[in-house]
This record gives sequence, C-alpha cells and structure tokens, in this order.
Amino acid sequence: MSEIILNDKEHIINTYKRFNVVIKSGHGATFVDENGKEYIDFSSGIGTNIFGVGDKEWVDAVCNQAHILQHASNLYYTEPQVKLAKLLCEKTGMKKVFFANSGAESNECAIKTARKYSYDKYGEGRNEIITLVNSFHGRTIATLSATGQDVFHKYFFPFVGGFVYTPANDIDALKKNINEKTCAIMIETVQGEGGVNALNPEFIKYINDVCKEKDLVFIVDEVQTGNGRCGYLYSYMEYDVQPDIVTTAKAVAGGLPFAAIMFSQKTEKTLGYGDHASTFGGNPICASAAYSVISRIDDNLLNHVKECRKIIENKLLKAEGVKSISGKGLMVGVELDEKIKAADVCNKCIENGLIPLTAKAKIRLLPPLNISFDELNKGLDILIESIKEVLK
Ligand SMILES: *Cc1c(COP(=O)(O)O)cnc(C)c1O
Repeated sequence: MSEIILNDKEHIINTYKRFNVVIKSGHGATFVDENGKEYIDFSSGIGTNIFGVGDKEWVDAVCNQAHILQHASNLYYTEPQVKLAKLLCEKTGMKKVFFANSGAESNECAIKTARKYSYDKYGEGRNEIITLVNSFHGRTIATLSATGQDVFHKYFFPFVGGFVYTPANDIDALKKNINEKTCAIMIETVQGEGGVNALNPEFIKYINDVCKEKDLVFIVDEVQTGNGRCGYLYSYMEYDVQPDIVTTAKAVAGGLPFAAIMFSQKTEKTLGYGDHASTFGGNPICASAAYSVISRIDDNLLNHVKECRKIIENKLLKAEGVKSISGKGLMVGVELDEKIKAADVCNKCIENGLIPLTAKAKIRLLPPLNISFDELNKGLDILIESIKEVLK
C-alpha cells in the first residue's frame, strides 16, 4: 500500500471512509493519482472546483493576490472582499453580504441572524426554525441540530434546541408546524446529501409566501445548489421567490475554503457591531478567487450546464440498471436498480477511471461546470459500463 495511505491511517483521525486512491494533481475535469492514472472527475471535490483543476483564470486570481496581500484583519478595509460583495449584490439583488469560511459557518450566521431579527422585533420566545426532514446544513452542533436526519443526532448531546423538522413537499404538515414560536424556515431547493431531491416549485413558493405573510425569515441554503450548479447563479432564481438570507460556500471560491451569506432588505440591518465575526472571513486570496468565479458564471456557462443536463438524462435514462435521474442542472442523482449498491458502482467507476459521489442510495454527480461535452460523454460511458459490470 502507498506510503501516503499508511501514514494517513496512522496520523489522521479516521473520520472519512476514504477510497484507496491518492489524488496528486489534475487538469480540467481530470484528476491524476500518485501512479499517474487519470480519472474523469464527476465530483469537483464535492462541488467545489467548478472550473476544474488548474484553470488559468482562477490560478491567476489566487496567485496575483497572494503576491499582493494574503490576509489582513477584518478591523481594516480590504479591496477584494468589497469588490466581491458588490458583485454578489449586483448579480442577486441582495443588499448586503457577510463572509465566512465554510457552509456550516454560513448557516450558523443565518441561524443567528434569523433569531436576532425576531428578537429585535418580537422579543423573547419566538426563536424556532423549521427545517426539512432529510436536510443537511453542516457539522457544527447548531447546524447538526438544524439537519433533519436522525443519523446525525447521536453522541454529541445536548444538541441545540429550537429546530422543528417538517417533511419536504408537504404544505399541510408545514402549516401545522408554524406557530407563534416560529421565526424562520430554512431549505435547500435540492436536498444534496439527503439524496439529490429537488423540492416541488409549489412548496418553495408556499414557503416564500408564508414567510412574507408571517414575517418569518426565509433562509435558502445554497451551499451546494448555488454558484451555477443547478443552471442558475443561485438555484432560488428559477422560482418567483425572494429569500431573506441566502447562504453559500462549496463552489463559491472555486476550491478554496470560503462562504458568503447574503441578506435581503428585510435582514440587512439585523447584525450590527460585535454581533458576528470571523478571523479569516473575507480573506483576500479567497475573495479574489470568488470574484473571478462569480464573474464567470454567465448565461453562456449556465446554458452549458443545462445542455450537459440534457446529455446526462438522455444517456443515463436509457442505461441498464438506472431507474431515474433526479436533481437540477449539474447536480445529478442517479437512482439505481435495487439489486445494486451505490458503493459498489463507485468502486467499479474508480477502477475504470471515473470519480463519482454518492448520496444515500444514489450515485451523485457534481462535475465541473465547464466540463467539455467530450469529457462528459466519456465519463458517462464509464459510469454506464461500471453499472453493467456490477449488475452481472
Ligand atoms: C456541504 C453542505 C454544508 C456544509 O458545508 P461545509 O463547508 O462542509 O461546512 C451545508 N449545507 C449544504 C446544503 C451542504 O451541501
């Protein structure tokens, strides 16, 4: 076994069930392992490297800023985060931005803001946040508490109170869960870790409307769905809705740790001096990377994502062992025949030179958004062949 794998097992806490591959480098939508074997990358590093590996514009944005200034504290003004905040507001119509370093942190910020918004206006006791069954919002204690999956509610007691879980797409159940204690509703438009399940448009619209009617904070967790992944800059833009807070991370800086929390007119004044902070939030190198990424998510790229989706559906729906395709844009869930396990398909794909992901019982695909049709088709052929081999 590789020295790197042995040393990893000996010295790194064993929280990840890693595949037996050491990824050493890459180019575009291809990863290269320590033995020089190439893999088509249908993971983007869990949806982060949306322009693949070694993309020239992204590398230049990062390296140029590294030469100028790597970090300064948030007690001073720095240009990259201001440029990025302005761009995000212009492109979304949101009013203000806070920067953090990860998806979980961005949701922590949203949770804090929702509770303070309600406290400021209505006083104590109105602090419950409704999230969805099967959601995923992060690994900190508060965001684990927000996550509507029992498997995450073990060992680490006590969890944070004040979260209520309601089933996705069930408007009647949601109505029953809203009461005088409710202050916010938080959703992913497509549940990612929960199995790539897109919410019904009517359900999303109802949440938007009820939040307006009852002055609840409508939080959309776009950590995975955002930044072009679903064929829109942010996935909520497909619908006639106006979130009060949008959180995003994963792809926002193209593969560097970064997060943005965007606030509408309703919530832009909620957090004030001392209410929230982060040492690294808005870091100049990450902000420069994010500026370059966000400025390149244009109609061209979004149309490419939609074209790729068509190719994927056309090919996979005809493939042996595939029951259905879920998700939006280049956030793809592949439901397999019950006879086969996603993990077995994954292992076979890796053997055959493709890196996919899983989500619950499904194969999940999150390729770089600029993947070429040629690479996409090659990757799909490997996936189809691998499923066939597992079926045998
Ligand atoms: C990945 C993910 C998170 C957590 O992001 P981290 O950067 O790992 O903290 C939160 N919400 C959603 C929807 C995610 O997909």
